[in-house]
Amino acid sequence: MVSRDASRRIEAEQANRRLAQVLESSSDLVIFIAPNQQITQLNESARKALCLIPSAIDTLVLADLLPQSSYSQLIDQGFVSANVSGSWTGELELQRVNNEAVIPVALELLAHRSLQGSVEYYSLVARDLREARAAEVKLKQYQADIDHAARLITLGELASSLAHELNQPLTAIVNYVRGIQRRFKERRSVSWDELQFPLDKTAATALRAGEIIHRMMDFTRKREPAMEALVLADVCADLLQLCGPNAEHQQVQLQDRVDPALPKVLADRIQLEQILLNLMVNAIEASEQASELAPLRVSIEAELVNERLTKGKGAATRMLRIRIRDQGKGLPAGEPQQLFERFFTTKPKGLGMGLAISRSLVENLGGQLWAENNPEGGASFCFSLPLAEPPD
Ligand code: ADP
Repeated sequence: MVSRDASRRIEAEQANRRLAQVLESSSDLVIFIAPNQQITQLNESARKALCLIPSAIDTLVLADLLPQSSYSQLIDQGFVSANVSGSWTGELELQRVNNEAVIPVALELLAHRSLQGSVEYYSLVARDLREARAAEVKLKQYQADIDHAARLITLGELASSLAHELNQPLTAIVNYVRGIQRRFKERRSVSWDELQFPLDKTAATALRAGEIIHRMMDFTRKREPAMEALVLADVCADLLQLCGPNAEHQQVQLQDRVDPALPKVLADRIQLEQILLNLMVNAIEASEQASELAPLRVSIEAELVNERLTKGKGAATRMLRIRIRDQGKGLPAGEPQQLFERFFTTKPKGLGMGLAISRSLVENLGGQLWAENNPEGGASFCFSLPLAEPPD
């Protein structure tokens, strides 16, 4: 009897030792806290991450391990909820006093109670998020690089027609100057009234050429996205100027049907231009392949709808739905979702990135992007965007 009790005790001690070893060597940071907030124990990962030597632990209190805002949150929310329901999870930061390194962590706080019901101690298990956060930043950077490269490629597709567009004002300027030379070559004096008109025209035309270059440079610049309230009609008007020459070249007629009085949307201007440009270029290309007869139309329309935000779970909200409608050959046969997969293309020189990037940009802005065939022929690409000021 005695020996059976003894062997049970030895087994229990062994099990406890093994558990303690697992805790000590866990990659998670484990911290034990007394009800008076005194730190009683930290495992090796916690000591290392917080640069603590064992002798420093004796006098350590919880406030020594977190920056002020995280500490307040842990006290006000964490301990309150752990005392009521036994546990609390959250994302906070750990930081040793006088140490610059801040460690973002996902943590769980547990209240451990005695048989009588009072809290004996708390345990805090924290997962170091530094690597995960660094990977997120890298991924974001990578995504931004891809988006930027895609912008350059799309613009490259438009380059020859833009160069042509630029040639027109330059030729006009040369014509105005030649006109002045011809008219006034033989004259000794010239009046300002005679010169004013051709000079004004020359200046205005040079400014127009400058605007084309500006728009191109703006679009190719690498920059941080900035959300702002945008009038969709203004963005569309700018964009149609950018792809107008291309449409003309392909004998496609562009129609802007966006009402300037629609409420503003919340988006990054360049990202919105990139989405619209991808869809417009696709629509123009689809139209160009379809017919050599009458010029086909590509139109852009927008209306207010009720739709659910991709990022939110709640009820439907007022959004602006934008539709780019073409009269082209319609969507390729097969699963409609395949269009949005990276590298899916039916074009001999296509990259298959435009729609994948556009969809991820739209979803990042809180909307959705989808495609459908029109009953009257051709395809429509639609996307929704949240309003800058949601209605009450
Ligand atoms: P790419 O234009 O390089 O092929 P995208 O991702 O922009 O890449 O488009 C993927 C595919 O979706 C296209 O190759 C084409 O088959 C189809 N597609 C896109 N827009 C249209 C459209 N307006 N009409 C018909 N098919 C389209």
